[in-house]
Amino acid sequence: QFKPFAYAKTVQTVCPYCGVGCTLNLKIIDNKITDIYSTEGNVNDNLLCVKGRFAYDFVSSPDRLTTPLIRKNGVLEEASWEEALNLVAEKLKEAKAEGPQAVAGLSSARCTNEDNYVFQKFIRTVGETNNVDHCARLCHASTVAGLAKSFGSGAMTNSIDEVDLMDVMFVTGSNTTETHPVIGAKIKQRQQKGAALIVAEPRKIELAKYADVYLQIKPGTNVPLLNGMMRAILDAGLEDKNFINERTEGYAAFKEFMDTLTVEGCAEICGVDPEDMRKAALLYATKDKGGIFYSMGVTQHKTGTDGVMSTANLAMLTGKIGREGCGVNPLRGQNNVQGACDMGALPGDLPGYQKTANPEVVEKFEKAWDVKLPQNAGKTLTEIINGVGDGTVKFLYVMGENPVVSDPDTNHVKHALEKANFVVVQDIFLTETTEYADVVLPAFVYAEKDGTFTNTERRIQLLRKAVEAPGEAKNDWEIISLIAQKLGAKGFDFNSAEEIMDEIASVTPSYTGVSHERLRNGDRIQWPCLSKDSEGAKFLHAEKFTRGLGAFMIADYIPPEDQADEKYPLILMTGRILQHYHTRTMTMRTPGIEEIAGDPFVEINPETAKEYDINEGDFITVTSPRGNVSAKTRFNKGIMETNLFMPFHYGNSGANHLTGGELDPIAKIPPFKVVKVNISK
Ligand code: SF4
Repeated sequence: QFKPFAYAKTVQTVCPYCGVGCTLNLKIIDNKITDIYSTEGNVNDNLLCVKGRFAYDFVSSPDRLTTPLIRKNGVLEEASWEEALNLVAEKLKEAKAEGPQAVAGLSSARCTNEDNYVFQKFIRTVGETNNVDHCARLCHASTVAGLAKSFGSGAMTNSIDEVDLMDVMFVTGSNTTETHPVIGAKIKQRQQKGAALIVAEPRKIELAKYADVYLQIKPGTNVPLLNGMMRAILDAGLEDKNFINERTEGYAAFKEFMDTLTVEGCAEICGVDPEDMRKAALLYATKDKGGIFYSMGVTQHKTGTDGVMSTANLAMLTGKIGREGCGVNPLRGQNNVQGACDMGALPGDLPGYQKTANPEVVEKFEKAWDVKLPQNAGKTLTEIINGVGDGTVKFLYVMGENPVVSDPDTNHVKHALEKANFVVVQDIFLTETTEYADVVLPAFVYAEKDGTFTNTERRIQLLRKAVEAPGEAKNDWEIISLIAQKLGAKGFDFNSAEEIMDEIASVTPSYTGVSHERLRNGDRIQWPCLSKDSEGAKFLHAEKFTRGLGAFMIADYIPPEDQADEKYPLILMTGRILQHYHTRTMTMRTPGIEEIAGDPFVEINPETAKEYDINEGDFITVTSPRGNVSAKTRFNKGIMETNLFMPFHYGNSGANHLTGGELDPIAKIPPFKVVKVNISK
């Protein structure tokens, strides 16, 4: 018998996965997403990748958290909101009494701008500490630090659609077709229309097949790669003297340093032919419009900040910045990692990168929020985890993150959390991290929220609520606000995400012109948006750099901490694959995705495998000084014989059991891309 659908509608919103920020149309029947398609979009035309198009089963998964949980006698048991929030408030109060380093919060690049704004405000004003950070520390902290030094602001300088204007595209440290598939597709389309493509990557990724020049550099050699290319440009007299004179500073010292280098010397460190390095450099320098695209292959190193500053040096040396179709483009990983940084979910930055160390900034926020703000230098994410382990952090609030899988050195993270005094996790599912939680609070997913995400090109986009949340789950910002109110805090009586955005706009210069109303009315806004009648900036640094003059920064090669040796003769690189997102909490709930990419794997060159008597599909154990994991082998002739590759997504066999080591001294980002390992069958 025909039963009409109780409710059918289509709701336009934004993809919850990568930083491209594709527009999605969700088809809803009976409060359930039944299909996703895209007909138009701010960034994606009608393109979607496998995650955005198909990976929506998690929204209505029976595994969703529906009530608060409190750990009693070692077991998480259902509790009322009243009981759970009272316990969290009481524990926060107790920890605060121990001083400003005893409370810490990890915010979330998956949550909205509004959630992140409220979270950092809560940690700073109610928790009375600057110990707030999020997983940008693990991906693009070096971009935020490095581009801020070179240009004055750490974000993608171009818009995605400027790819269509480029004569040359230089991709390094980014497997773009897998990690930012729609941008990868646009790069391929542009190359097929005649633009030149240069790719520098230790693995022969898909884009390498389309490249005019492919440089298979050794892992951890981004700085000599970029220095060698700049040396070649100087040797050919192709530097843009006018741009250097008029728009930059620090060139004389930089040039003096460059004069100590040779192309041959740099190429040798990278393990590439110097002639190929020259060819790549001259191709980039001689084209009129060119963009550099990079991601975590550049940032996730002990020298991540140096690598980022070197990309900026290359763009300034050739005058390929501050013009339409010319720029430096860090591709931000998660859907709202740009926004979480913009909102001040960073220990040293209040919203809009206004520094906690600047007394005028602090005074401004004290006035706006009507509180006394903390003076402590906040801890970064890795320092927070260390603090949990050594007992300095007594109260940890984790909103929508899964550090047990995402952070380096999994065993270290687990040991720290085992010793934790009190941990709250606010999430949509039980995760590897909730195993260590004292309280778990159920939150909304993207399809249940109004709010905004800011994508990799600084575009602020509106999410629209499409379905009702299951059980008693609540909005992330609402949960935080309820706890704040329980502790008698002012400034958390928000009624909607729209109201929160109005407050964000009032204290964040680069978001001054942003409002939900404008976005609802179809305004396309990219920060900096300084007034209500501006759509912001399509590309950055047009007339002058955010810091005034662009700064040439000297970066010499510092070898990675991990070097192959007798005990660990191979170098492992970690990374991401097309089908999965971050720690798989969402994508693993789509059966088709699991069928294709359900198991962890190790990529190995067949010649290396032969040496170890390994066949394709064999299980091997990979061991580093920090731990070991087992996974199936997958042959890849495009990986060097001295290297292995593993995706980090998989919890129990996650590559982060192997990673760790010295942090970048400026950005405090850990190294994930150069790990010495051994293997056994
Ligand atoms: Fe677009 Fe990224 Fe979502 Fe894929 S994952 S649909 S590229 S936003």
